[in-house]
Amino acid sequence: MKALVTGGAGFIGSHLCDYLTAHGHQVTVLDDLSTGSKENLVQLSDAPNFEFVEGSILDTALVDSLVGSCDTVFHLAAAVGVHTIVDKPLESLRTNLHGTENVVDAAARHGARIMVASTSEVYGKNDADGLSEDADRILGSPLKSRWSYAAAKGLDELVAYVYGKETGIPTVITRFFNIVGPRQTGRYGMVVPRFVGQAMANEPITVYGDGSQRRCFGSVFDVVPAVVKLMDTPEAYNQAVNLGGLEEVSIRGLAERVIELTGSDSTIEYIPYEKAYGEGYEDMRRRMPDTSLARELIGYEPTLRLDDIINSIIESK
Ligand code: NAD
Repeated sequence: MKALVTGGAGFIGSHLCDYLTAHGHQVTVLDDLSTGSKENLVQLSDAPNFEFVEGSILDTALVDSLVGSCDTVFHLAAAVGVHTIVDKPLESLRTNLHGTENVVDAAARHGARIMVASTSEVYGKNDADGLSEDADRILGSPLKSRWSYAAAKGLDELVAYVYGKETGIPTVITRFFNIVGPRQTGRYGMVVPRFVGQAMANEPITVYGDGSQRRCFGSVFDVVPAVVKLMDTPEAYNQAVNLGGLEEVSIRGLAERVIELTGSDSTIEYIPYEKAYGEGYEDMRRRMPDTSLARELIGYEPTLRLDDIINSIIESK
């Protein structure tokens, strides 16, 4: 495979690059280093089958030339993180919608296969017991404060779907549910690395809201091979597929696990949402994936438990 990984200097993208190069594929990364870092790719700097290009997915000519010299695109570049999407909704809309259209359009022109990274946030306020791919999505139930990210990703899915249908290029949409692991940074509001960092420094762990909101964290080491398998599975083309973990936990429960596993003296401090993110901020109460479609398509079975995931982050610090 000759792969282009947009956002390859980021958390999931850099693990995907490790996996693809280790399996003998040729990999080019396009990343503007806005939230990603070259540090995440330092282990590949001498690999003969790896190349890094600094630039933006909004640069149509650059995207066209890079997509033209590969056969598979993993499109992960996006404006992410609560602070980015709440503070700069227009910028986030521009990157996540126009950037994706650029990349998908180039893939269609050059006949490349494409994976487009989407998110559990397309399910909006839906908090069903195991969200399946046919649950109501963002356009019916948006969360106001996170609209720029969720709505752009929802539209990205439709862009990918329509291009796939009309041009026949193999297209897979992956809906990631709170994927975590080493190299994820806490700087942009990602909860697990932030809690681990606070616990290791014996600082108070800051929980936003009352901590009763629930999430189901998935490991990047389970998700990366699944993404590659989906690209090789024609039954997955033109479908959106949930990828995530198995174990649901409240954010208060997560803070307690992190304190125990790090052996920290940290206490837990509760901060109202409006103080953390401004007036009117809304969060999802619950986010739990139904991954049976991924299981049916590629035999997806997450192997790592929450404690394993937290430990892998602690060890990487
Ligand atoms: P990340 O911030 O680590 O990775 C995103 C990468 O995109 C970064 O390296 C950043 O520098 C790059 N980027 C941003 N704007 C760009 C632009 N205009 N041009 C080129 N590169 C640009 O985040 P991540 O967690 O690895 O997320 C990867 C993808 O998965 C994103 O599309 C994100 O929306 C999606 N996703 C992730 C999760 C998760 O739990 N981590 C959940 C849902 C969806």
